[in-house]
Amino acid sequence: MKIMVAVKRVVDYAVKIRVKPDKSGVETKNVKMSMNPFCEIALEEALRIREAGLASEVVAVSMGPAQCVDTLRTGLAMGADRAIHVESSSADHFYPLNVAKLLKALVDVEKPGLLILGKQAIDDDCNQTGQMVAGLLNWPQGTFASKVVLDKEKKTATVDREVDGGIETICLDLPAVVTTDLRLNQPRYATLPNIMKAKSKPIKKVSPEELNVHIRSDLEVLEVSEPPKRKAGVILSSVDELIDKLKNEARVI
Ligand code: AMP
Repeated sequence: MKIMVAVKRVVDYAVKIRVKPDKSGVETKNVKMSMNPFCEIALEEALRIREAGLASEVVAVSMGPAQCVDTLRTGLAMGADRAIHVESSSADHFYPLNVAKLLKALVDVEKPGLLILGKQAIDDDCNQTGQMVAGLLNWPQGTFASKVVLDKEKKTATVDREVDGGIETICLDLPAVVTTDLRLNQPRYATLPNIMKAKSKPIKKVSPEELNVHIRSDLEVLEVSEPPKRKAGVILSSVDELIDKLKNEARVI
């Protein structure tokens, strides 16, 4: 069985986000970009499944501008066997529905038994792509996975899902879509020898047109603005003063 993993290139989680002066979006020039953390978890899970002998190949895929190749190289250095880059200029809109259509087209060609995505991309916080591609493929989905157990004989995946107030365990017939939550695993670091090896692993390039997907913008971003600045705090000298302020200024007690 083949596993396909969708990995997105995003602004690194440790970077302080700056909004562009014209408020058209977030500044990405000269900013450190990395693999979306939930996608690292998705790739780690696929690698563990392959290493357990339950899958034969892990294919990492990414959609976006030329620099996505760096993200795919990271994925190959972590251990993916090969990669596919759906390249399109940064002017194109890689909103969840467009990405889901491209993923469906890739699945139709590659025919994986499992498609793993991050539960959400930390740049758009959409949490939509996995659900949309499962709908387009008409495949069962296990979202917010904190545990995935495959049964090769029965061709099923048992998925623990992190839901409000607990864990829901569901059983999916394969092929299926899984999206990863934070507690699923701890992704590995790429070792230096594997970074070197990754340089010779193949990255195939395809365009949306070759996949017969018409990328169009369903959404218009009107404005991106920073959150309002927080007011400075005050240091109080006693608990009595705190109680007084909570009672008479904040009026919360
Ligand atoms: P989102 O629905 O945008 O929050 O993204 C959820 C997941 O979809 C991500 O963690 C990725 O696995 C996948 N995804 C979204 N956009 C892309 C992209 N441009 N390239 C590859 N994977 C993507």
